[in-house]
Amino acid sequence: MKIGREDFEALIKGDKTIAPYVELDPLAGTYSVFGVKTASNPNYMVKAVYEMYEQNLNKKLAVKAVRKLYRSVGAGSVGLNNLLKKLGMELKPEEFLMLVFKLQHQQGWGAPFELVEASEKRIVIRTKHTFESEVLKDWNMSVCGIHQGWIEGVLTAVTGNSWYCLEKTCHAKGDEYCTFQADQVSASWKFKAEAVVKGESAITEFIEHKPLEGKISLIDEPVVMMPRFIFTSMTQSLKKTMGEAPASGVNYRAYMDMGRENVEHYKKMGITNPKILSDMAFAFYSQMGWFNFVKEEWDEKTKMKTITLSHTVESESFGNTGKNVCFCTAGLLAGIIEGSFGIRVQAKEIKCKSKGDEHCVFTITNKPE
Ligand SMILES: [Zn+2]
Ligand SMILES: [Zn+2]
Repeated sequence: MKIGREDFEALIKGDKTIAPYVELDPLAGTYSVFGVKTASNPNYMVKAVYEMYEQNLNKKLAVKAVRKLYRSVGAGSVGLNNLLKKLGMELKPEEFLMLVFKLQHQQGWGAPFELVEASEKRIVIRTKHTFESEVLKDWNMSVCGIHQGWIEGVLTAVTGNSWYCLEKTCHAKGDEYCTFQADQVSASWKFKAEAVVKGESAITEFIEHKPLEGKISLIDEPVVMMPRFIFTSMTQSLKKTMGEAPASGVNYRAYMDMGRENVEHYKKMGITNPKILSDMAFAFYSQMGWFNFVKEEWDEKTKMKTITLSHTVESESFGNTGKNVCFCTAGLLAGIIEGSFGIRVQAKEIKCKSKGDEHCVFTITNKPE
């Protein structure tokens, strides 16, 4: 079926729907709508995508992951935009966005959309419900990551600028509308890192992995993946050359410097609040697999901070040895706190999983001058 400019214009004006443009050939296994080969979007598939992410994330972060996935889907609309241009139709970004959703929604992606507000930097659209807000109603929260990502992808594709979309209200949590507010902003390093600290993003959202080029970056910073046994391997090698106690000291010192330098990097990126700096470092190392943060306590009388971690990289790597093994982790904690608060501290591991304790527990005290 040939689709021309008059068909698009009739659809935009509402004189026609996509119904006459639906072609279904069950025997050939093809289904096309408005000249584009498509397929239905069964509930179970949408649910499966959300649940796949939820297995490793919480619900809120799963919505974010879906949003990232659908950004690429939205970006694909650049083809339609080029076609319209070829037909001599120059649509404004919000008009194009509304056309894309008209095509989608008439194919079953929820209720129709209405445009609430449009300027060069902000576009707000809303709908009574989306496809995913119906499917995931029982999550009882803002769930429309598909639409957020879709909107971001579409607007970025047609304007060449980056857009950030928030879902202000959602049918799935009982609001009257799903309202999407898209702003033309480029999310800075600071913005992304703070989202990780607040639990609104997981680092996975910002990992760009190009395995075939041998490159990995995390929020635009190059990183590497290492096998965990590097900790046992390096420590054994140091022990062989200098003995056990000096080896532990060297490890502690090296990781303390690393922790401090890491915080310096955050400072260069514009983070100044000491508590945010240390929380950020803990959040990043934890999400990178170094440990899981259990709790942090402060004793005013002794001016001592106690940090409890589960599965530190070293205790996992060494296994049960009958003694404390987490010298790198202790140094790292000291470095993070020194860098963040601008003080000198000493970190000491007082309980260790490798010694048979439930968790690894570290005390942090001021270092006497
Ligand atoms: Zn919603
Ligand atoms: Zn330990």
